[in-house]
Amino acid sequence: MKEYEVIVGLEIHAELNTSSKIYCNCENAFGGEPNTRVCPVCMGMPGTLPVLNKKAVDYTIMMGHALNCKINSKSRQDRKNYFYPDLPKAYQISQADIPLCEKGHLDFYVQGKERRIGITRIHLEEDAGKLVHSDNGNCSYADYNRCGVPLIEIVTEPEIKGSEEAKCVLETIKSILKYLDICDCKMQEGSIRCDVNVSIREKGSTNLGTRCEMKNVNSFSGAVRAIEYEAKRQIEIVSSGGVISQETRRWDDIQGKSFIMRKKENAQDYRFFPEPDLGIISVDENHIQKLKETLPELPTALIKRYTQEDNLPFTDALLIAEQPERASFYNDCRAYNRNRPRSISNRILTDITKYINETGLKISETKLTADSLTKLIAMTERDELSSSSEKLVLNSLLENGGNPEELTESLGLRQNSDEEYIRDIIVKVLSENEKSVADYKNGKKKALGFLVGQCMKLSKGKANPTLLNRLIEQELN
Ligand code: ADP
Ligand code: MG
Ligand code: ZN
Repeated sequence: MKEYEVIVGLEIHAELNTSSKIYCNCENAFGGEPNTRVCPVCMGMPGTLPVLNKKAVDYTIMMGHALNCKINSKSRQDRKNYFYPDLPKAYQISQADIPLCEKGHLDFYVQGKERRIGITRIHLEEDAGKLVHSDNGNCSYADYNRCGVPLIEIVTEPEIKGSEEAKCVLETIKSILKYLDICDCKMQEGSIRCDVNVSIREKGSTNLGTRCEMKNVNSFSGAVRAIEYEAKRQIEIVSSGGVISQETRRWDDIQGKSFIMRKKENAQDYRFFPEPDLGIISVDENHIQKLKETLPELPTALIKRYTQEDNLPFTDALLIAEQPERASFYNDCRAYNRNRPRSISNRILTDITKYINETGLKISETKLTADSLTKLIAMTERDELSSSSEKLVLNSLLENGGNPEELTESLGLRQNSDEEYIRDIIVKVLSENEKSVADYKNGKKKALGFLVGQCMKLSKGKANPTLLNRLIEQELN
């Protein structure tokens, strides 16, 4: 049997979180009573004129810098004409021949290995409205609140190998959008959506196969399923001697299937032409450079630093780096430089994440500070706190803040690592439990656990367990 390789190209749409829409003053926000965030401009009334939102241009350029693109200081806006009830103007203002950003690349990680794919272009356009279908299927309602929400479309080269890589590309792009704070990234609200292009070719071949494009993919797991479904469908066709025809297909995530929408032969002709109501977008080179300087350190670079310099395991580095909140807290803790990076990332990924998930707060909204966390970890590493006591103090710090030293005292949790003190306890416990001591000496190793337990009880749980275990074995032997 022949072996096939799956090639994917993505067109990723991200809604920009500017406060107003792209060509009018309407509020840019999700939801709301239908047709309440609209005006004559975004409703496409004749005689109205669009005015471009500068912020949307800046955000697009920032994404262009993040994806290492060439930024065109002069780019054009074009009309993409099509008729559909969610688009009152019957055209969408987009960018055809000269996008704001082009010829970039994205570095990302797949299972710990670095990969690079080309970014063809990033352009700015407006979103369309939404159709809401009645339950009985008899009618559809049009909600134009989303009309004119600024969107960027990020187009990748057909260089993504399979569903796993595609997922990593999507995750990385989402994470970058979060770092730049230019998109809400709320998948359930449709802030990021994508079209998935899939083709197959024999392993070893360098020619691209005929692609099919799947529309209507609105989750990353949906993209993975769509790619796998489509690859399987194409392999079955080719293996049984057929040829793939270039198609646009609709992905139905509930059925887990795609359905043909149209073939290449009757592909849509959008009759693109330069938008006559708007000039070219002209951006000063200095301004383009200034925007570049605002960029934070991005997740792929962070993962590299966390794995190579801090020696974090890849998955931990990924989990810390993918969320700006976590990374910023981790970096703050590292700035104190008191603890091993592993200890910090462990706390962030376990107890702190648990608390965040339970309360819905951000790390910065809790009472915990980087200073107090690093102090707390240092106490545990000096054996002043047991790991279970540390959790209690940490939870209290998250909830109420405070000083870890004082909290440990006031909660009575300071661990005792004084050899003499522990040895006294052991001697006392051993003399009061002669039977268990005899059991232990006769080979009943379980008796040790009981004796340790008694010592712990006597110390009110404060004896350093490592030290206790070492000393009790010494005494017994
Ligand atoms: P459009 O979809 O508007 O016709 P393009 O032809 O430029 O635009 O292709 C858009 C997307 O299709 C890009 O993401 C590109 O990487 C992807 N693509 C193009 N050819 C292939 C192919 N043979 N296999 C997989 N993806 C492809
Ligand atoms: Mg397309
Ligand atoms: Zn409006």
